Amino acid sequence: MAEDWRLMGQESYLCGRSMRLARWTPYRQGWDHDRCDFCAAEISDDPTGHAAYKEAWVTADDDYSWVCPECFNDFRERFGWVVTDQEADT
Ligand SMILES: [Zn+2]
Repeated sequence: MAEDWRLMGQESYLCGRSMRLARWTPYRQGWDHDRCDFCAAEISDDPTGHAAYKEAWVTADDDYSWVCPECFNDFRERFGWVVTDQEADT
């Protein structure tokens, strides 16, 4: 069976991470969107509404890597994600 086209080595940094469902917020000032680490769907709070998602899963310890809800469901078993509602210590 062929590998899913969305898999591009994310195992090296996303396996077993704690993931939190969150509304998108800019990681840095001036940042206006992120993309799903798997399918590159746009995740943003852009008021024009062209982003695919306003809410998605993010790595809970650093708020850095975003995964859209669809990819989260498709890969949660493979990656062994731990669901949390704990926010990152900043
Ligand atoms: Zn995705």
